[in-house]
Amino acid sequence: MIYDVAVVGGGLVGSLSAILLGQLGYSVVLIEKDQPVRTFGEFGLDLRSIAVSPASKILLESAGVWGSLNPTPYKEMCVWEELGASKLTFSSEILEDQELGFICENSEILEAMWGQLGSIDNVECLTGNVLENLQVNPDHATLSLGGREVSAKLVLGADGTHSKVRSAVLAETKTLVTRHHVLATVVQFSGSHAGVAWQKFLLDGPIAVLPSSNSHVAFIVWSQMEKQAERLKKMDRDAFCQEVTAVLEARFGVANRCDHRVVFPVTQHLVKNFYPSPRVVLLGDAARVIHPLAGLGANIGFEDVAAMIDILVVKRPVSDIGKLHDWKAFSKNRIRKSKLMIQAMSRLDDLYANTSPLFTLIRNTSINALDRNKFIKKRLILEAQGLGFL
Ligand SMILES: Cc1cc2nc3c(=O)[nH]c(=O)nc-3n(C[C@H](O)[C@H](O)[C@H](O)COP(=O)(O)OP(=O)(O)OC[C@H]3O[C@@H](n4cnc5c(N)ncnc54)[C@H](O)[C@@H]3O)c2cc1C
Repeated sequence: MIYDVAVVGGGLVGSLSAILLGQLGYSVVLIEKDQPVRTFGEFGLDLRSIAVSPASKILLESAGVWGSLNPTPYKEMCVWEELGASKLTFSSEILEDQELGFICENSEILEAMWGQLGSIDNVECLTGNVLENLQVNPDHATLSLGGREVSAKLVLGADGTHSKVRSAVLAETKTLVTRHHVLATVVQFSGSHAGVAWQKFLLDGPIAVLPSSNSHVAFIVWSQMEKQAERLKKMDRDAFCQEVTAVLEARFGVANRCDHRVVFPVTQHLVKNFYPSPRVVLLGDAARVIHPLAGLGANIGFEDVAAMIDILVVKRPVSDIGKLHDWKAFSKNRIRKSKLMIQAMSRLDDLYANTSPLFTLIRNTSINALDRNKFIKKRLILEAQGLGFL
């Protein structure tokens, strides 16, 4: 059998793609190395969370996944910094009281997606299978999974940062070195996070405090130098809590309990082409990884999926989905958006890393001026929500 689509990687982006393609009637095989499992830390929460944008929420609703989640909505975001007295607040008041975003646990989204996949007859999930090789032929592609082969008209590489699909087709990729590793955990404070998404720019990198449904418990995403991240990971829990209280200036009271900590290296990369070979399209982290400081990686990956589905809805019915001319235009659009986002993240990091007194003064003055400018803030919020013009 030749499937319409083989999706490699059943993470957030690949699973969503398989659901939406299945719902459009395509025959889909989803190849995933590890069956996703729901994970709970000591607070009953996954250590990994993501801030889901309103645009992504709409997409998850159309996939029939959103209703199974327990998201924590936030209507305000507050950014401040270690050096100086600048403060930037984004509030839903500017947007007729709509949510700015929703904090969701990664493994809960995956669990809901895989539940949904199981209900779609024309989607077959092959878990415990690793893509080892890929050969592109004139009328289909053949995927070698170690001991078995699968054929499809189109291969979607959604297999993450170290994508085998990307390397198999020798897709040219530009890697941008970042100075950071990122530490994720869950912390309980004596005070409340007030349902606000907080971010403080420290000299070494930003620390985000993202609300959970318990007003005293927050997800921590802390970007910093590798050595520092490893030190914080290994330090005993009381010492870690003391350090969190100190860097956050006890804004949420005292950090009195924390879960264990996980550390990820932060890379940024971008492929030259999202359509690097006939019959192969790359999506999500396989195509582009952005610094997690603005919580955009999964959202922009979901945007890749939405852009792909938009093409297919207009073109339906498609007899050979791997041969559409539209993949070139798709790639061009996704490259443009990805470059914008990667540049924005690098500039934001550089902006706060500069410690010269004059620069700090200019930065503080400019950010306070921005905080008073409702028009620009509204534009920025709409872009972050995935509902802007860019
Ligand atoms: C600490 C942290 C915080 C973040 N916070 C946010 C946030 O707030 N908002 C946001 O939008 N983004 C956030 N991100 C980014 C987001 O998590 C990623 O962009 C997103 O998970 C990428 O999804 P993906 O499906 O493209 O890749 P992945 O999640 O990496 O999934 C790839 C899948 O492919 C499978 N796979 C790999 N190789 C093979 C193979 N050869 N054969 C078969 N299967 C294979 C893997 O097992 C995996 O399941 C954060 C990232 C980090 C590290």
